[in-house]
Amino acid sequence: MFWWFGAILVWRESAGRITQPVAEADIDLTGNIAPPALYQARIETGRGAECAAAGGAGWFLDGGAEMAETADVVVIGGGCIGTSIAWQLAGRGAGRVVLLEKSGIAAGATGWSSAIVRMHYVHEPLIRMALFGRRMFENFADEVGGDCGFRRVGFLVLVPQHEVPVARRVVGAQKGLGIDATMLSPEEISEIEPRLSLEGVAAGTWEPDSGHADGTGTASAFAQAARQAGADLRIGVEVTSVQAVDGGSIRVATAAGDIEAGSVVLAAGYRTSALLKRLGVELPIKPVRHSIAVVERSAAFGAPHPVVSDRVQRGYYRPEGSGLALLGDHDPLEGEIDHDIETDKPPPPDAIARLTGRFAARFPSEADATYRRGYTGVYDTTPDFQPALGAVKAVPGLYVAAGFSGHGFKLSPAVGRMLSDVVLDGDTQVADISMFRVERFAEGKLVAAPEGYGTRSLA
Ligand SMILES: Cc1cc2nc3c(=O)[nH]c(=O)nc-3n(C[C@H](O)[C@H](O)[C@H](O)COP(=O)(O)OP(=O)(O)OC[C@H]3O[C@@H](n4cnc5c(N)ncnc54)[C@H](O)[C@@H]3O)c2cc1C
Repeated sequence: MFWWFGAILVWRESAGRITQPVAEADIDLTGNIAPPALYQARIETGRGAECAAAGGAGWFLDGGAEMAETADVVVIGGGCIGTSIAWQLAGRGAGRVVLLEKSGIAAGATGWSSAIVRMHYVHEPLIRMALFGRRMFENFADEVGGDCGFRRVGFLVLVPQHEVPVARRVVGAQKGLGIDATMLSPEEISEIEPRLSLEGVAAGTWEPDSGHADGTGTASAFAQAARQAGADLRIGVEVTSVQAVDGGSIRVATAAGDIEAGSVVLAAGYRTSALLKRLGVELPIKPVRHSIAVVERSAAFGAPHPVVSDRVQRGYYRPEGSGLALLGDHDPLEGEIDHDIETDKPPPPDAIARLTGRFAARFPSEADATYRRGYTGVYDTTPDFQPALGAVKAVPGLYVAAGFSGHGFKLSPAVGRMLSDVVLDGDTQVADISMFRVERFAEGKLVAAPEGYGTRSLA
């Protein structure tokens, strides 16, 4: 058990401000007793200093409430987003970083993710973020350590006639950022993937450097790297509430005891909404259960296909290993709303029929591909299909990274960097984060994009 349970701390105070803690009883003195560095900086420069000046209550005393353990930053959620953030924070000297995960690393959406890594987005900040991620996935062993399972198989978009102008704009923007992306005629699509039937396809876009990775492997590697950088990862610890505390810190309540931190990052997927709601902050998220079918391609098929995003049939086909394909839906709202997100459920029969039917229509040789299994995972879908990212204005020290609406895996490297930038420096240079303000939901200023294209994720 944690050493701080039952420990009695006696604090020496000086001029209304605690300067040094003294431990009694069985406290492990190798533990973190001194005020964590980032926390201390806040006290001296900002909210904590006001608190001390107002009554000398000290840097984590809550109007006489019981003392809690302290941290500089608490990250809530151990998916690809929370682990990426924790790794960046710990590695960049954020002080004492604690990650709390109620279930297991990658136990949520991350563990079910198709983990497609592509850079096809209509919004420039998302293109930049996806590019940041793709580069990190390609150099993962050197930059992070461990194996993210990245396979550079290419990403091909099949575009219907009415979306060709938007697809052109996307490719133009990608090229402007140095991405290897091209528009393709149907004939050029056939050169890249001759086994496709191109019914209804007017054009294609092609990213040879993209592909797919592995959600569980990536989050586990981020978690391991975070640990090595000094972060304290606690698995099986559920956060029950987050509250602003007099004096400017934030109290994170768990069944295993409370932690007070200078900064708290909410990266708890769908469950983030409920934690924010208690603070009066609106983040509307629909939990939409998505189905995935896994088929074994016929022996005659040959080499794996690229990742194919079929905007005509509204689905995607992603190779898995040498002989399998994962089949999923495009539309983030394609699936049942299901608040019971922690329970594993099989896909409904009509979803399997839809997914396998599309695959067979696109790859006619695979009409008799063998259905191997299916599973479901839940998207945390916001009204504009974009996440909430960055500081929560109403609660100083609180940050959010949630609501990825089915396209957060590829963004996780960039989100880790961006949130650590915002926590440590107040802003980020990776991409313009203002588009993702959580306040946009309460203000009714949702992210807009070309009708039927940009806001809806491709996976
Ligand atoms: C079937 C499927 C396919 C997908 N395919 C792709 C794809 O191809 N490409 C792509 O980019 N994205 C894809 N996504 C989306 C992507 O996987 C998610 O956007 C991403 O994994 C979200 O990560 P996260 O860390 O925000 O959330 P999660 O992985 O859900 O992690 C949140 C964590 O918080 C924990 N938690 C919740 N509440 C609490 C609490 N109170 N206290 C402590 N811990 C708590 C949970 O246990 C969970 O582990 C897909 C998603 C699904 C479901």
